[in-house]
Amino acid sequence: MTLEIADLHVAVEGKEILKGLTLQVKSGQIVALMGPNGSGKSTLAYTLMGHPKYVVTKGHVTFEGKDLLVLKPDARARAGLFLSFQYPAEVAGVTVANFLRLAVNAKRESQGKKPLSVIEFQKSVKQKMDSLKMDHQFLLRHLNEGFSGGEKKRMEILQMAMLEPKMAVLDETDSGLDIDALKAVAMGINALLTPELGVLIITHYQRILNYIKPNTVHVMKEGRIVKSGGPELVEKLEQQGYDWV
Ligand code: ADP
Ligand code: MG
Repeated sequence: MTLEIADLHVAVEGKEILKGLTLQVKSGQIVALMGPNGSGKSTLAYTLMGHPKYVVTKGHVTFEGKDLLVLKPDARARAGLFLSFQYPAEVAGVTVANFLRLAVNAKRESQGKKPLSVIEFQKSVKQKMDSLKMDHQFLLRHLNEGFSGGEKKRMEILQMAMLEPKMAVLDETDSGLDIDALKAVAMGINALLTPELGVLIITHYQRILNYIKPNTVHVMKEGRIVKSGGPELVEKLEQQGYDWV
């Protein structure tokens, strides 16, 4: 699997936000995309999802060699792309269990597999919850309704565990978390890493990268990458801030 973003230009409401962004993520790699607020990190995440407000004006994105940008959001998900967002939506009246079962079965259907029965689903989701150290009671809650910051993030990690994507884009997974919740979420993500999975971690702060070690670090400013390196770049940013770049 390769996610390839090449010379990507994106406009929002007529204003160019991404101005020629180029990066790659391959299977088994963890790539960190860092940068100050307003540099366009979330714009990239929304563009990858296929949000209609984010208009690609130049460049391309391919996923496993195929044009990603022509696919509708649900087709991108079925192709194996998973996105977690800085501000997940609340869905009134839908329980976590029902949401996850629908999501898993939609994916299975697109792969020509039989849907999981309620019993099969319960068994599978409880196994994943145990490995993420989540309370099974959580399945009965309504999706994101009254969830704490940490619960929302763990919900996303559980969703990722159930969907087994090829590529995960995690936007500010660390935002608003206290240190214990951050550790729990980071350990959850680490538990899902496989040689088949590629991960793009988008973050303003370096602290989540103390727990999830990236292979490559890119620093973005005003819509393009201005610096790339290895994990040592994270430390340098921590000490010297973004002004140094
Ligand atoms: P980051 O995630 O790096 O903080 P964003 O991608 O959220 O940056 O924002 C980059 C720029 O794009 C900001 O100036 C922001 O105001 C603008 N922008 C992003 N989304 C929208 C939107 N939906 N409508 C208007 N402006 C937007
Ligand atoms: Mg953002």
